[in-house]
Amino acid sequence: MFRIGIGHDTHRLTEGLPLILGGVTIESLRGAEGHSDADALAHAIADAILGALCEGDLGVHFPDRDPRWQGADSLQLLARVVWLAQQSGYTVVNVDATVMLERPRLRPHIQAMREKLAQTLAVNTNCVSVKAKTGEGVDAVGDWRAVTAMAVVLLGKTDSKV
Ligand code: MG
Repeated sequence: MFRIGIGHDTHRLTEGLPLILGGVTIESLRGAEGHSDADALAHAIADAILGALCEGDLGVHFPDRDPRWQGADSLQLLARVVWLAQQSGYTVVNVDATVMLERPRLRPHIQAMREKLAQTLAVNTNCVSVKAKTGEGVDAVGDWRAVTAMAVVLLGKTDSKV
């Protein structure tokens, strides 16, 4: 039994804030605003898992008005979502994700992101794909005002995992 889910997330970029993507801190003049650590990639993947489970979205499970999640490590939120999937008998089969950020270039950080995410998702690194795109100077991403991430996740029942 397999289930598929899609996730998407956007955070506004502001000077002086940290930029964390896939659990990796990236040196950047602008970082992401948010209630948690504003890791758009981790949030998109978590939403994709919740979507596959028909369990709502991150805001349902971790409300942004709840002080418990202020500055939260999003990999911990993601781990909690993976645990939720496991409670229903599902594990992650693979993830494909795209991050859209005008700068800096993310390619040097992709492998570290894949490794951190794979560890959190309890899968091999070769089951986690992270791709990076720019906004080509168009819209909020292209204006370096936002970072966006999207993800597709396949879950499999533990007893029928391929
Ligand atoms: Mg978010």
